[in-house]
Amino acid sequence: MDIFSDDKAHDECGVVGVYGPGRDVARLAFFGLYALQHRGQESAGIASSDGRTAHIHKGMGLVSQVFNEENLRPLKGHLAIGQNRYSTTGSSNLRNAQPYLIETMYGPLGVAHNGNLTNALILRKKLLERGVGLSSTSDSEVITQMLAAPADAWSDLPENGTESDRWVARIRSLMQVADGAYSLTILTRHAIYGVRDPLGLRPLCLGQLDTGGHILASESSALHTIGAKYLREVEPGEIVRMDGSGLTSFVGKPSPKKALCIFEYVYFARPDSHFEGQVVHNVRQQMGRQLAKETGVEADVVVGVPDSATPHAIGYSQESGLPFTEGLTKNRYIGRTFIQPDNQLRKVGISLKYNPLTTNLQGKRVILIDDSIVRGNTAGPLVQLIRDGGATEVHVRVASPPVRHPCFMGVDMATYKQLIAHKLDIEGIRQRIGADSLDYLSLAGLETAVHEAIGRNTGHCAACFSGNYPINIPDWLFEEDRDKVMFEGMWGD
Ligand code: SF4
Repeated sequence: MDIFSDDKAHDECGVVGVYGPGRDVARLAFFGLYALQHRGQESAGIASSDGRTAHIHKGMGLVSQVFNEENLRPLKGHLAIGQNRYSTTGSSNLRNAQPYLIETMYGPLGVAHNGNLTNALILRKKLLERGVGLSSTSDSEVITQMLAAPADAWSDLPENGTESDRWVARIRSLMQVADGAYSLTILTRHAIYGVRDPLGLRPLCLGQLDTGGHILASESSALHTIGAKYLREVEPGEIVRMDGSGLTSFVGKPSPKKALCIFEYVYFARPDSHFEGQVVHNVRQQMGRQLAKETGVEADVVVGVPDSATPHAIGYSQESGLPFTEGLTKNRYIGRTFIQPDNQLRKVGISLKYNPLTTNLQGKRVILIDDSIVRGNTAGPLVQLIRDGGATEVHVRVASPPVRHPCFMGVDMATYKQLIAHKLDIEGIRQRIGADSLDYLSLAGLETAVHEAIGRNTGHCAACFSGNYPINIPDWLFEEDRDKVMFEGMWGD
């Protein structure tokens, strides 16, 4: 086990797009990506353009590892897009790092993608049959090439339209055939486009720069980081264009239902971001309150697994009346590293990441709150750590239901065999992690908590808990070796 890995589902990516005349927009994109680092830690990249030439830099690692003054300086221009990647489709290497930047008959085209196409295999084959070459295993390159070279059957391009009309038509034709999750930022010669899939599975929001111009980002926290004013979310199925004439909205592909990923509220998003009119921190507190209503147990203190489960634990404490206390200290500066521990350090395991706060745990019956359990590889060591800290009982409460189904919409839990709740029932998991008791928030309770917090039922995807997917999932995606099916014969990586 990689001791630096956690037991969390990971969102595939964070994206940004900036149109800012007179500004060093690559620098704005850098700080936007920096604020979205939690959405992807394997690679980062920025593409920019001044309307004449385009530039790109991308690499493996964290945003701060990939960029420095020297490689940021050549990224000139007033248009930029950027992406942080955590691979789910395609292997993790530089060839799959984003954005993609290619030359087209209308100038440069750059694409940054958050999500996952569920029919990428079909679209990929169609492109290859048409003679379009692909250089990576990523579905995002498929999107890029479909925009660059739309097939007649897919497109309804205006004969005499402007360049902008043509890009909007190309994006629309992509949206007619692409299934699955996609929040896109797209760079062209004169404009930045933002696109959200018809279900709105992955988030994307819009902001205004105080010096003129606009910005797109996966989460509102990225806007605040660079001093931009939050305007609104890009609507599911909407295309927005940011250029010299300001902000323009187009209907891309309308859908009667919406399905924002409910896991954004559970874990993915930063607590200071807001979706659907509510701060994520508040939604998580509501989940904690609901969890206390459903799974109360006699105890002395409530402890959250830092930092992600702290809001849930505060909510649990508020509802139960039990005091919230810090029971685990997390090394705040730990992050992804390429340096692996030696065997001696490996034995220390999770202590490299957390230490128990013994003064708060000694002699206490502890309710340990986690936001989710996915693979079940860290809950056991955490329970042991709390016991080592002097707790007499450890009752684990999880602020989301058991994750029993894979996700194919841009999250790294895409096979059944990864999921502990697919293999074991709750009692089996309790025994595995060594807790005195274990309970989860119900699916109805999770949905109630979200709806109460945001004040309405907007429609969410909760398929990893329920198995009810908001889109048709092709059978082959359920295959454990589907990457082999998809990329058979390609480069052996
Ligand atoms: S299956 Fe789960 S993780 Fe995937 S989009 Fe739906 S709610 Fe989110």
